[in-house]
Amino acid sequence: MRNKFLSTPLSSFLKFGRTLTSIPQRLSPHLKLRSSSPPSFAPPFCRKSLCSKPAEKFQITCWNCHDVPQSVPFLFCQSCRCVQPVDHSIDYFEIFGTEKTYDVEGIDLEGKYKEWQKKLHPDLVHSKSQKEKDFAAEQSARVIDAYHTLSKPLSRAIYMLKLDGAEIDEEQTIYDAELLAEIMEIREEVEEATNSEALNHIRSQMQEKLQNWSNAFADAFERRDFEEAKNVIKRMTYYSRVIEEVVKKL
Ligand SMILES: [Zn+2]
Repeated sequence: MRNKFLSTPLSSFLKFGRTLTSIPQRLSPHLKLRSSSPPSFAPPFCRKSLCSKPAEKFQITCWNCHDVPQSVPFLFCQSCRCVQPVDHSIDYFEIFGTEKTYDVEGIDLEGKYKEWQKKLHPDLVHSKSQKEKDFAAEQSARVIDAYHTLSKPLSRAIYMLKLDGAEIDEEQTIYDAELLAEIMEIREEVEEATNSEALNHIRSQMQEKLQNWSNAFADAFERRDFEEAKNVIKRMTYYSRVIEEVVKKL
């Protein structure tokens, strides 16, 4: 994925209109929740892992110009335009300036992703130090991971559970007899489908099922029923794989 990104020309991100200086100014809602100070952002601010400690002792500053961040998440310094090192305490939702939510329909993930690329793309730092080149490669690869993870219902679901400490074994065997029968039946249908019309029909059926189970995941997650959420993810994994198989055959 990283190689794919690194081979993507910067021009493909720059042709989408917005200026290089445009920076998402909306504060991540988590910051307001985490901070006991007034909701307006005024550095120094408190980081997830450091919240119990006095913020001034752990003030985050730019590694290059030592300025405090003018906005969060701090991936890029607005003062000296230097890419910052990856901070793994910043989660993917924070990168996109949103609270953790399964429903991302109203969030412009693609637009924000492109805005980040205009600041973090390795082509922008080709004349800078090796240190900053490394930061840019890592930051941009992480933003791309974040974008792909949050864009797809299955990976978004798995990621949300992971953030809550619930790991998923994606290769776990399914013992649900009804589901196994369904799997076999659909696999046969895919194998036997000889034209794009038949394949597209299967794909739309699978997408509908994926959507239904996606809604079921949202419900289970809302109830904090992680066991049910994991069961739902198994089904989502299966339908996603069928869709991938169909797409390969198309
Ligand atoms: Zn700076």
